[in-house]
Amino acid sequence: MITLSGIRKTYGRTVALDALELEVREGEFFCLLGPSGAGKTTTLKTIAGLEQPDAGTVVLDGKDMRGVEPYDRGVAMCFESYALYPHRSAYDNLASPLRSPRHRLPAAEARQRIGAIAELLGISGLLDRPVGQLSNGQRQRVALGRVLVRPARAFLLDEPLSHLDAKLRQQMRAELKAIGAVQHTTTLYVTHDSVEALALGDRIGVIRQGRIVQTGTREEIWYRPYDTEVARAFGRPRINLLPGVVTESGVRSDGGVLLPVRAQAPAGTEVLVGLRPRDIVLRGEGHELTGTVYVTEVLGRSVEVTVRLGTGDQRVSLVAPRADAARLRPDDPVRLAVRPENLLLFEADRPERPGRRIETQS
Ligand code: ADP
Ligand code: MG
Repeated sequence: MITLSGIRKTYGRTVALDALELEVREGEFFCLLGPSGAGKTTTLKTIAGLEQPDAGTVVLDGKDMRGVEPYDRGVAMCFESYALYPHRSAYDNLASPLRSPRHRLPAAEARQRIGAIAELLGISGLLDRPVGQLSNGQRQRVALGRVLVRPARAFLLDEPLSHLDAKLRQQMRAELKAIGAVQHTTTLYVTHDSVEALALGDRIGVIRQGRIVQTGTREEIWYRPYDTEVARAFGRPRINLLPGVVTESGVRSDGGVLLPVRAQAPAGTEVLVGLRPRDIVLRGEGHELTGTVYVTEVLGRSVEVTVRLGTGDQRVSLVAPRADAARLRPDDPVRLAVRPENLLLFEADRPERPGRRIETQS
């Protein structure tokens, strides 16, 4: 549905997009995740035709978009810095796309469509108010509504929930995918929030410095991250990455802890072993690790426990149910268990690039 190939876009000496490849399938909800400055907005603008790439092609529905005006591309984009009419009412702002010759609807139908979208976005009570008098969060919902009211081939949404407070964001995140227009329309959703990407994306593309580093389902990204930086981007508390060396019997980490992971790499290779905090348990089946409690921190119903492993200064964090961890005090000895199949393995990080994932043998 949306195919970007070899897209390069520079602003002076800044390379915003660098040989970017992206494919969003028909009807899919695709999340593009990356830090600020990674090239997310530039990607959307390039698809919408608001920026011309220096090289590469944009294909929508099998048609090359070179030379096609933004208005004729049939995509609806919601800007991060939304261009609303501040003196007009929220209703008028929502209605304006439906007044364009392309999308003109009979008044009654337009009213009905606007009413339904406003209801879903929780702005029904604000429709008479001038947009200039609304809060940032309310304006952001009007801007989103403006995109969703009109029929489009694809929605391009640029961090549409970023100005909402945490509670509303969580609520809207849950509702967004249930909106009929979103369910039926290919959607490319940009965010810098990995929780949002995991919650919403049928697939996720991770963008870094103008390139797509990895594309996959949430399971693929979670269990087979391309490199340590992708692994660090998903999951809180963050994944533990223990430095060590490949040996015949597994990876021996600094401090003498043996981790039962067989690498497809020669003995002596410096690696990082990844253990997700929720994959380490205080009681349970698996390979046993011993250590002492370093610090505990209550996170609602669970506790983050940081444990010093072996003889060195290696530390790992785990998340345990409060009932299991409530009595732990610093320096208490603890036994941990990890399932070998949950261990990830990476090359050691280098100054020029994060360590890539290494295949393991079970
Ligand atoms: P993101 O949306 O992921 O935060 P952007 O696509 O906005 O990233 O920007 C990517 C890079 O291109 C950044 O380094 C940014 O400073 C630069 N950039 C974006 N737009 C412009 C512009 N109009 N002029 C100059 N530099 C720009
Ligand atoms: Mg942006």
